This record gives sequence, structure tokens and C-alpha cells, in this order.
Amino acid sequence: MQPIGILGGTFDPIHQGHIRLAIEACQQLDLQQVRFIPVHIPPHRLRPVACAEDRKAMLELALDEHQQLTIDTRELDSMSTSYTFNTLESLRSNYPKTPLCLIMGEDAFAHIDSWFNWQELLDYAHIIVASRPGETLRLSKTIQQWAERHRAEVPAQLHSKAAGFIYFMNMPLIDISATAVRAALAENKDVRQWLHESTFSYINQHQLYQDAA
Ligand code: ATP
Repeated sequence: MQPIGILGGTFDPIHQGHIRLAIEACQQLDLQQVRFIPVHIPPHRLRPVACAEDRKAMLELALDEHQQLTIDTRELDSMSTSYTFNTLESLRSNYPKTPLCLIMGEDAFAHIDSWFNWQELLDYAHIIVASRPGETLRLSKTIQQWAERHRAEVPAQLHSKAAGFIYFMNMPLIDISATAVRAALAENKDVRQWLHESTFSYINQHQLYQDAA
């Protein structure tokens, strides 16, 4: 069965790195879709700079032309802190048998052992780790051993069962982060090459990120 990809993040704002990551995953892993799940209240970092409504609107505009990329607002709709474990549990009840692929950059994977019920994430989904510029994947021994134990060698394995594999995806490096986008905007620098044009217009229209890096 063709897996469903899941890309959680703050998307503050969504940038070309997120879009490329999702498209690469769709193509390389033969996914039916990638669901972007904007976090409401992240447990491990400062609250997003832009409000939920703005982040969602920017996602909607930027993903509009991509049929396979969709938005899933289940974390925004919940008033509590967003734990990926709970999100996967909820997705699994919607899709009892479909393989789920939780996609993340290697920066996120390097800290996965701080996530709530991190080892049990594999009961609900596969984990896809994408390389990210500036990150030399320095994994703790515990994470390294865990990744080795569950490693998939080829994408076809992700289609063979609903959850349980970790797959390291090679992709062209895209050197963009939302932090860099916000910093550049606050300094009035040109960020158009990093953003979808609709995101750029929305940010200008709503005067977002004027002084927040
Ligand atoms: P910030 O700079 O505010 O931390 P970000 O650019 O990392 O934001 P997030 O919304 O936190 O964006 O990221 C969501 C997911 O996308 C994370 O798993 C992150 O590792 C991944 N990601 C973001 N940008 C890239 C990129 N350029 N290449 C690969 N993965 C990326």
C-alpha cells in the first residue's frame, strides 16, 4: 500500500526547504501524499512567532499548486501541547492499515530521544530522516543503535508494513531555515528565493516578522 507522509513543523513561515523535502519524499518513497501538520504549542522550543492562523494561511497558499501536499490541522485544532506520539496515534485511528512515514530533517532526528514516548513512535509510523545542510549527523549512541536496529535499506520496505522502519533519505541539500528567513526579513533583506511567491506576498501584506528573528 502506498504510504502517507507526515511532515510536522512550526512552518514559521513555510519555505522552499519544506516543499522540496516533501516533494523529494513523495518521489523517492512513492508516497500517495504528504500531510503538513503545523504544530500548535511545541513542547521543545519557543512558541512560533506568527500566530496559528497566519502559519496555516501561508501553508494553504504555498501548497495550493501541489496536489500531493496537503495540510492537516489536527494539532492546531487541539488546545494542548502537541506531542507527535499523540498525533500519530490519532492518524493511525484514521488510517488503520496504511503505512505512515514521519519525515524529519536530521537536526530533528538527532534530538528525537527527548520526544514523548520516542521509541514507541515506531509502533505507529516509519521514520524518514533527510539530510540538512550544516548538520553533521552527530547521533548519540542510543539513537545510533536504535536506528541501526530498525534501519530500512530500500524504500520498498516502507510499503511492506505499516510502521517500524527508519530510512535515511538522500536528497539535494537545501540550505534554508525559517530562522534565517525571519532574520533576513527583520533586516529588510530579500528573501524571495527562499519562499513561494504567495508566502512572500502574505508576509508583506500582513507585515509579519518585521522585528522578530
Ligand atoms: P526554524 O529555523 O524556525 O527552527 P525550520 O526551518 O527548521 O524552522 P520547521 O518548521 O521547524 O522549520 O521544520 C519542520 C521540519 O522540516 C523539521 O523536521 C526540519 O528538520 C525539516 N526541515 C526544515 N528545513 C529543512 C531543509 N532546508 N532541509 C531539510 N529538512 C528541513
